[in-house]
Amino acid sequence: SPIVELEQLGKVYPTRTGDVTALTDVDLRIDDGEFVAIVGPSGCGKTTLLKILAGLEHHTSGVGTLGGRELGSGAADVGMVFQKATLLPWQDVRSNVLLPVSLQRRPSKADRAAADELLEMVGLTDFASKRPHELSGGMQQRAAICRALVHEPSMLLMDEPFGALDAMTRDLLNVEVNRIWRETHKTVVLITHSIPEAVFLAQRVIVMSPRPGRIVDQVEVPFGPERT
Ligand code: ADP
Ligand code: ADP
Repeated sequence: SPIVELEQLGKVYPTRTGDVTALTDVDLRIDDGEFVAIVGPSGCGKTTLLKILAGLEHHTSGVGTLGGRELGSGAADVGMVFQKATLLPWQDVRSNVLLPVSLQRRPSKADRAAADELLEMVGLTDFASKRPHELSGGMQQRAAICRALVHEPSMLLMDEPFGALDAMTRDLLNVEVNRIWRETHKTVVLITHSIPEAVFLAQRVIVMSPRPGRIVDQVEVPFGPERT
């Protein structure tokens, strides 16, 4: 069943120097539990599309639903990972993972257990009480993934999550993300500049093109990753 359905979605940013059309005529359906990668050159609207799914931007034409609810009707049930881990430097790793919970309520014992379980899943158990600066860049992104998952969102959105990391760390994290997807059964939408990364991780690759941003191709990955 579809978790995302977009029909003729468009986005125009009004700016001082005139309107910028970031997205036009986007038709997209994403099934629950699917892993989709979005590729395309800079400026083709990848981030804008992800922000609309996350409820951080409003579309300006067309219609869309996420989990059966109309896009833009309140907080979206998603977790996000950005290129920078953006962990709070003065809080330990566990508190950083719990941040989405802490913003709503005092974390319970169960919340802490959930955070520790996520940290264990990505091999950070021994770093739960450390500060972010004591972790490598790859470890910080692992913590950011845990933070995105701690409130059990139905969808994980990742915008170039490993673009700033060295090749070896990136490859290891790709293996990690594949495992997380197989273990959590989450829907994942990943923006990447790397076709090998897209093909390794995703079941379907969505290709976008700029001026104006739109989907120009959708490729099912033959022998794509399978969930256990
Ligand atoms: P990326 O290609 O990784 O999406 P960009 O450099 O295009 O990064 O954009 C970085 C940030 O600046 C984004 O949050 C985007 O929304 C914002 N941005 C991009 N273009 C403009 C613009 N013309 N005016 C204002 N903000 C912009
Ligand atoms: P990508 O992620 O593929 O690089 P973006 O979604 O960041 O693409 O940007 C798509 C287009 O929208 C670009 O032309 C960009 O300059 C423009 N844009 C993005 N964010 C803003 C913004 N906040 N204000 C104005 N223009 C923007």
